[in-house]
Amino acid sequence: MGERLKSLKEWIDPLLSVIFPDVCEICGSTLVPGEMLLCSHCLHAMPRLNLFTNKFNDIHHRLFSTHSHIDKAAALYAYHRHDEYAEVILTMKYRNRPDIGEKLGMMLAREADQYGFFNGVDMLLPVPMHWWKKLRRGYNQSEEIARGISKVTGIPVRNYLKAARKHGTQTHRTAKMRWENTKGIYSVRKTDLLEGKHVMLIDDVITTGSTLLHCSEALAKSVSNINISVCTVAATHLN
Ligand SMILES: [Zn+2]
Repeated sequence: MGERLKSLKEWIDPLLSVIFPDVCEICGSTLVPGEMLLCSHCLHAMPRLNLFTNKFNDIHHRLFSTHSHIDKAAALYAYHRHDEYAEVILTMKYRNRPDIGEKLGMMLAREADQYGFFNGVDMLLPVPMHWWKKLRRGYNQSEEIARGISKVTGIPVRNYLKAARKHGTQTHRTAKMRWENTKGIYSVRKTDLLEGKHVMLIDDVITTGSTLLHCSEALAKSVSNINISVCTVAATHLN
């Protein structure tokens, strides 16, 4: 950004925040300095899963496979369909709000980092979106989340995973249908740069885990020596 443009932005941003103050995505109250995305009250009330210290948790269990090994896996909060915290994720995905993705990533990273969750991780790999879908939406929310995590942790984001074809939405599909739906979709590029690395897959929500499993299996198949971890913003409850 040019210097002149930058100084203009420094003038305009505070003015804009007076006219359109940032508000809490949950309750709508005006955010005060130090708050981001959610007010302190709603941040406190978030349905946290507290999994960052628990290595063999339910999320880790969902990602069990004989074809790939997951080192650690966790999500920040519980996704209860129709509650306000789930709504924040839907707003990010479907209402043209990539900024929410980055902020959720930062929020997640600040909490997880306290427990050393990112220690040893070399790079963040967002779950990819088929190029046509990304073009239509304008962004890949997993990439935005990864960008937010990177801002806090300094770990670089790499787009080494590719979605080879479009797949329909996973919503309203059974576990078996989800598995079939995403099978063989993901491929890996720059495999030489992944050799011997610890990568962390980033996604918005984990449900059955089939998307993340297919990504990790594609990595394990393409790279002989790789350590894979998983981190998502939210996780649904499995019955
Ligand atoms: Zn609030």
